[in-house]
Amino acid sequence: MRYSLNLPTDYKNDLPRFGDFDVIVAGAGPAGVAAAVTAAELDLKVLIIERLGFCGGAAVAGLSGTICGLYKSVEDTSNSEPEQLVFGFAERFRHALIEAGGLTEPQIYGKTWVATHDCAKYKKVATDMLRQDNITVLYHTQMVDVIAEDDTLKGLVLHTKSGFTSVYAQRVIDASGDADVVFKLGQKTRKGQNGIIQNPTMMFKVGNVDMETYLDYWGENTISPPKVVSMLEANDALLRKKVWLFPTVNPGELLVNATKITGFDKRALDVTDPVDHTEAEQFSIYQADEFFNFMKANLPGCENSYFIDYATEVGVRQTRSIDGIKTLTNDNVVNGDKCSDAIVKSAWPIELHYGDKPRTEWLVDDHYEVPFHTLVPKHGKNLIVAGRCLSSEHEALASCRVTAQCFEYGKAAALATHISIKEALDFQAIDGKRIADLM
Ligand SMILES: Cc1cc2nc3c(=O)[nH]c(=O)nc-3n(C[C@H](O)[C@H](O)[C@H](O)COP(=O)(O)OP(=O)(O)OC[C@H]3O[C@@H](n4cnc5c(N)ncnc54)[C@H](O)[C@@H]3O)c2cc1C
Repeated sequence: MRYSLNLPTDYKNDLPRFGDFDVIVAGAGPAGVAAAVTAAELDLKVLIIERLGFCGGAAVAGLSGTICGLYKSVEDTSNSEPEQLVFGFAERFRHALIEAGGLTEPQIYGKTWVATHDCAKYKKVATDMLRQDNITVLYHTQMVDVIAEDDTLKGLVLHTKSGFTSVYAQRVIDASGDADVVFKLGQKTRKGQNGIIQNPTMMFKVGNVDMETYLDYWGENTISPPKVVSMLEANDALLRKKVWLFPTVNPGELLVNATKITGFDKRALDVTDPVDHTEAEQFSIYQADEFFNFMKANLPGCENSYFIDYATEVGVRQTRSIDGIKTLTNDNVVNGDKCSDAIVKSAWPIELHYGDKPRTEWLVDDHYEVPFHTLVPKHGKNLIVAGRCLSSEHEALASCRVTAQCFEYGKAAALATHISIKEALDFQAIDGKRIADLM
């Protein structure tokens, strides 16, 4: 065994106490931001911690770049107008981004639409929302362990530049994306299909594109047209054969979602292991550069473009999923299943990043619903998750993990936390219909 799960108990008990809160939110991605803001507005005293120096998670650090999951899917996007399906916190954030000039109009993505956000504006909007009296924000702080009595969570151990500290709370929302808190509490988690997860992608941005010429060639659909797929299939240096390119709010700028990240030997990586994660970051540099060279050489309008930058870190789509009271199954998604305790709707396709080409399986003119108890681990007290680490099967996660839905998971987790504290109820005992009614 290379890594140990927990620190010695006596060591944890001797730590200085940073403070006491109603709720700690671990991770400030889309789900964590929505959870912290919603909890604070319910008058809970909130601490949100984040290992990076800003919020947004994969949507900002990973430059994931668009809000997916907002709209319905239809057979023919060229003859339809986008119809919004998800509102709630996602709509509030979307609106604030538009006000800040940080979101494009809806753009065609296959049989649905997305809207591309500007990461600088995203940071500003989220920062404004988090600056409230009853929210304490701690950046550059990593949750490294739990403080628990048996399976009852009492607090977290944090690591900072100044050393270790402890924080205590009545409830914890695990919005780490990786289910770090659930994992450290020793609760069951699973990874992908037999341990194989969807491949990561290194996103990057390109400037000085002659957008008119580019759009004339590529078309309105942000997914690569067949002529580009054929060129990619003939190029052995590029591992991914179907790509997405998004014009951004900035003139002449493209956001590029085009790399498939493996090990240098092409093996699938497990990015919860820092050895594999490091290799992912390194391999990313070469794949991104390779795709940029392809763009310059082959895509009209990109001849004089320049490489703006890589994402801050490689974009991770999937790591640990919890073992929840309910699990969103692949069939739930494909069949468009509805439920009485729905916290959010989704018509986002199964967008499975596995193999040469990401597989997109559409749910046209329909949607499925995500039940509340996918956020609640079967065991462990005082703990709920929000975000992509919810309980879902492998292919279901390839649909339900996108940003609009993650915002709503955060909101639902905060609503449940409020009820759980006020009524001294375990998360497992909360009637999901109550949360559904409050969404
Ligand atoms: C390459 C790529 C492209 C994508 N494209 C899109 C897209 O176009 N549109 C879309 O809607 N979605 C897209 N997604 C999906 C979307 O970005 C994520 O699913 C979403 O960001 C997940 O939100 P989250 O809050 O659950 O987790 P994350 O965004 O992963 O946020 C988790 C946060 O927790 C922090 N954290 C983790 N562990 C700890 C710890 N121990 N202590 C402290 N902090 C911690 C992390 O730093 C991070 O900020 C994409 C994802 C990837 C990887």
